[in-house]
Amino acid sequence: MSDRSDHRCDSASRRRFLMTSGAALLAGTATGNSSCGAGESAAKRAASLVSGNTAHVVVPEKKVEVMAEADVLVCGGGPAGVAAACAASRCGAKTVLIERWPFLGGMGTAALVNIWHLSDREKIVIRGIIEEAVERAERRNWIRFRGSLNRHETHNFDPEGMKIVFHDMLEASGVRTICHLVAGEPIVEGGRIQGVLVDTKRGRRAILAKIVIDATGDGDVAAKAGAAFDYGRESDGLVQGATMMYRICGIDEAKVKSLSSDVARQVMADMREAAKTGKLPPFQPAFGIGHVRNRCIPNMCPVAGNALDEEELTQLTIKGRRQVFAYWDWLRERLPGLENMAIEQTGASLGIRESRRVRGVKTLTGEMVLDAQKQPDTVGHGFWMIDIHDPKGTGYTTWNDRGSHNMLPAGQSYHIPLGMCLNPQIPNLAVAGRCASSTHEAHSSVRLQSHVMVMGQGVGTAAALALAGGQDMDQIDVKKLQTRLRADGAYIEDVPQI
Ligand SMILES: Cc1cc2nc3c(=O)[nH]c(=O)nc-3n(C[C@H](O)[C@H](O)[C@H](O)COP(=O)(O)OP(=O)(O)OC[C@H]3O[C@@H](n4cnc5c(N)ncnc54)[C@H](O)[C@@H]3O)c2cc1C
Repeated sequence: MSDRSDHRCDSASRRRFLMTSGAALLAGTATGNSSCGAGESAAKRAASLVSGNTAHVVVPEKKVEVMAEADVLVCGGGPAGVAAACAASRCGAKTVLIERWPFLGGMGTAALVNIWHLSDREKIVIRGIIEEAVERAERRNWIRFRGSLNRHETHNFDPEGMKIVFHDMLEASGVRTICHLVAGEPIVEGGRIQGVLVDTKRGRRAILAKIVIDATGDGDVAAKAGAAFDYGRESDGLVQGATMMYRICGIDEAKVKSLSSDVARQVMADMREAAKTGKLPPFQPAFGIGHVRNRCIPNMCPVAGNALDEEELTQLTIKGRRQVFAYWDWLRERLPGLENMAIEQTGASLGIRESRRVRGVKTLTGEMVLDAQKQPDTVGHGFWMIDIHDPKGTGYTTWNDRGSHNMLPAGQSYHIPLGMCLNPQIPNLAVAGRCASSTHEAHSSVRLQSHVMVMGQGVGTAAALALAGGQDMDQIDVKKLQTRLRADGAYIEDVPQI
């Protein structure tokens, strides 16, 4: 859409949007405060995220130029947002996606989380848009399949390549993609969201849409629009630990491989001891390493805190970066083969696992996950275990335990319901991704990139079908939705009859 056509929005409606964006801010504060959090501590923690400081300034009313108008506006270009935008556009909706960073992929690229899992340990149960991304990356040699189907099979991708794959997919789907744009205040009028304000180099502008999908990972748009959300676990309101991922190069692999396993075991034991006595920062003991060609991306450096507080996030990020160098300075002195290794890159962003979980029409629970429950309104399958990284940042994870009670049996999967993405308060607002409605436990499973892409494809398709039928998303025929998703390559089996 050209800038010229955007100017056609009449001045009366522009004035209306200006006034209602202020109202949305107030509504967001009030609603958020009264309804967040399941347990008392969690509620307190969530409430503290919407109250803020007592000192205020009053921002004068101002005319805001309309930058774009869409059927569907997707805020956030992580895996969930990319899938949602591709699906909506392919199903005929005029779709705009905005992303705050200069590239797409969210945690997968910005935080170097380059691992996808698609199987229930017997068969592939996640297909559709993610499968297309795998195929595109394979053609460029940007992804590598590791392991076999009977262990959650793993794809390691090159984060730099994935930035291009995602962009190509959006472009081919006809999505208007605008990076460098933070979704700001939502414009809410009469209980419906009309779009969002964005601060641009040219000043504040607005993007209007019939349906808004919040795929910001943190649920920024939904929370500011006044949607209720939960934050953290019930006992103390803390969210899962974060991780600073990084990429290393220059390891003499032949030399490292020639070391006896006793040497490696001893170094790891010494490292654990050093962490225990405070000589080294804590680390994730059974850390995984994503290999990309001759580079390694270890997942080992935990930190913990509040990802919604920019100042705290700044401190956590630098803490994580310092920790990474501390481990490898220590290891270089003890492990032959590391003489010329270098930390090539730390994540542009700290890897954030969990923040707001916006309450939906349905909430996915730990039982639904572990019992492999099926849902009539499913948009696809999930299979990952309850995988909680210690909210206090010790590096301990329930995954390290590999306790069988955390895992679904091989060959079983649960359904991801559309309802966890729909909003009970604002019918034309949906969320997709790690900010969708789940308990702390279920979130630790459904946050996976493959799972949020299933969700994104489901929500994007639901949005387009709703617009085509002149309905709200909660009114669409879910059978029709599932038929369309299957036609678009999604895997959906065992749907219970309503
Ligand atoms: C260390 C770590 C290890 C993990 N390991 C795995 C794993 O092995 N396999 C796996 O599949 N998953 C893993 N995950 C989980 C997975 O990476 C995330 O849960 C997933 O990326 C969530 O996708 P999303 O699209 O919901 O959010 P995100 O990936 O967080 O993307 C959100 C996007 O929205 C953008 N955004 C945010 N706010 C705004 C705004 N206001 N305006 C515009 N844009 C905005 C962000 O810049 C970002 O691009 C891991 C996560 C971490 C942190």
